[in-house]
Amino acid sequence: MPKRINLRRKRFGKWYVLSYAGNSMWKCRCECGAIRYISGVVLRKGLSTQCKACKIESDKNKHVGKKIGYWKILSYESPGKYRCECTRCNTTYSVYVGNILKGLSKQCNACLFKYGRHGMSGTKYYRVWLNNKARHRFCDRWANSFLDFYEDTFAGYSDGNHIIPLNKNRIMSIDNYEWSKGFYSKGSAFVKIGGIVMSKSAWARHYGITRQGFEYRIRKAKKHLDNNG
Ligand SMILES: [Zn+2]
Ligand SMILES: [Zn+2]
Repeated sequence: MPKRINLRRKRFGKWYVLSYAGNSMWKCRCECGAIRYISGVVLRKGLSTQCKACKIESDKNKHVGKKIGYWKILSYESPGKYRCECTRCNTTYSVYVGNILKGLSKQCNACLFKYGRHGMSGTKYYRVWLNNKARHRFCDRWANSFLDFYEDTFAGYSDGNHIIPLNKNRIMSIDNYEWSKGFYSKGSAFVKIGGIVMSKSAWARHYGITRQGFEYRIRKAKKHLDNNG
């Protein structure tokens, strides 16, 4: 029978060995105060260095402070999810860090588009996003991510378009927006026709029709434009 190695009063990570408990087991106290019985082999091989509760706690924070690409991991939120800062644009996001830790994500989606291979930062489309975001006219999904905005709206866009809400009492989102051609903006009291800007009421008088009749005409004209480019 091999001689028992005395582990009493020794430290193994957060464990402090109190006494031998028989059967190759040692009574240990974790730094947090938890008492557990652990086999001598497990202790000596470093297979256990703290109690379960302490391990969960330290696992939570093990990614905090890491810097990967432009990301800085700030704090734990929930399993896998951390508050992270994209240091390129100084914006914080709540993100699953899997792709960051694997090196697949090095910056936020807005920066990816701004500086990445898509190079959209100089485009009018990007400015539409930036301007409307700054005026708090977008839903959170769009405000938080240029990529999401791009996914939802880019298909119908052409240069010079304005984005406007269908219902101007609500913020813009995937079911509350449309791309408007320059000369006609829904909800705007002014309309430009043939280079002249006048209020809708003035145009209606000009054509000798009601304002409703005029609005009907510009809707039809817009439809015609949409259908024929
Ligand atoms: Zn503990
Ligand atoms: Zn960024």
